[in-house]
Amino acid sequence: MILIFSAAWGAPVNIAAAPAPQPPRCGTVDLAQWASTQMPGAAERWLHDFSHGSRVARHRGLLPPPGTALEARDPYAVTNVHESDHFAIRWGSEGDVNTNDVAVFSEMFEASHDILIDTLGYPWPNGPYKFNVYIGDTGSDGIPPLPGTINYTWVDSEEWPMIVIDAEYFRDDDYVSMFPPHELFHGIQFGTETMIDLVGIDHRVLWYMEASAHWSVREVTPENTYHDIFIIPFAYYPELSISHWSQEQPGALRQYGAFSFIRHLTDRVVDRQLVHDSWVTATVGELPLDRIDRYLVDNGTTLDDEFLLFTAHVATWDHVQGDSFREWIDGDLGWGDNHRPTAVVAGASGEWLAPDDHLPHTYGSNYWQLTDLPKDLTISFEGDEGPQRWYAAFAQRTGDDHTRLALEMIGNNGELTLTDVPSADESWLVVTALDGHVDYGESFSYRLRLVDDEGQTDTATPQSPREGGCGCNSAASTAPLLSLLFGLTALTRRRRR
Ligand SMILES: [Zn+2]
Repeated sequence: MILIFSAAWGAPVNIAAAPAPQPPRCGTVDLAQWASTQMPGAAERWLHDFSHGSRVARHRGLLPPPGTALEARDPYAVTNVHESDHFAIRWGSEGDVNTNDVAVFSEMFEASHDILIDTLGYPWPNGPYKFNVYIGDTGSDGIPPLPGTINYTWVDSEEWPMIVIDAEYFRDDDYVSMFPPHELFHGIQFGTETMIDLVGIDHRVLWYMEASAHWSVREVTPENTYHDIFIIPFAYYPELSISHWSQEQPGALRQYGAFSFIRHLTDRVVDRQLVHDSWVTATVGELPLDRIDRYLVDNGTTLDDEFLLFTAHVATWDHVQGDSFREWIDGDLGWGDNHRPTAVVAGASGEWLAPDDHLPHTYGSNYWQLTDLPKDLTISFEGDEGPQRWYAAFAQRTGDDHTRLALEMIGNNGELTLTDVPSADESWLVVTALDGHVDYGESFSYRLRLVDDEGQTDTATPQSPREGGCGCNSAASTAPLLSLLFGLTALTRRRRR
């Protein structure tokens, strides 16, 4: 049996639990290490064959007509089963398995099927058969193993997808709501052409497997905020690329929290068809970010522009589930180092500042926390020549009111003059680098400066306000920045190549 990456979860965590709840531990690395040492290359080839075979099966008409009852099958001849319309949950004769827990779990899988397959139109990945969900290590000789405290989606000995879970997990109500849609989504991924030739290559695909699977959870259980827990590693390591994939620090499990970007796109920019197309209609070998960009261009925008705006939203967690994000991040779960803020900047000293460490990668950001701001100030930015595009924006939040304003960029330099800056619950300066969709590990340096302009306008040469002017914000401008006060968002678009 071949086991590597894919669905991997850890122990459930209750945000209100005390003392010191532990973060989920992902077991994927165990599987990956096992597969890579036991049969290097075989897992990738095998999944390739499976994906290809599943696609061919669909084209051959093996999928039953809608409404046709699915058949049960079990290559492992496990003792116990709970069948529903589309799933069969199976466990052995040992272990403490409560049939009521199993029934609740089964209902959640059916709810996931209703939303993902029936409503959102994803292809059923399991042909004419019910999807097997095994409770691992429950005694039957043939039952799939649980190599560590993990769950996973993989394929069985007859090359149909299966899910293997640890019984410990489905006793937790929050976890029961999160796990079924995520794992079913992995099963859907396995049956798409997008997987062919991509899975097993590198993080360029692996991050999106987890990010999009985790995106699906809210589609099925929008009332459950437990799955937002993975915003923590996403928040803690903002300098890493959106496509970062790692099971170890720094940035372990950040790929799960990357669901927040996909969620931002489908909540605020386009619709959820974006995710469907990224798997179902992507061309063979097309990278996820390339496919997402193609979808956004078809809808009048670009991946670069929307990602930059997203990083400004992240400054103050301006998201549909922003309150939940803040609540998880504020809880100290011992998730590792927190690289946010990059630094706390008090006042506007006029000194040039540069990050000591954790410079942004492509599609990565730094977040400078600003305190004791003067009423009037000018923010200046100077970036190195490395990335194709720099972005910097000032962001504030007071209660549920969020404001964002980008620095005007000319070349690698940017500037923004603010007047009558209101007090706020939090103020940030976000800096983001873009240098292509693939992160080769390079990071980019820059410096910034905050200058206190208070009193400057009194001594400057009087100027009449220009109506219908260029709209640029120069350091000498005395015009109040109404767009900031009224919460408008500005985005500087610049292409160097
Ligand atoms: Zn997963």
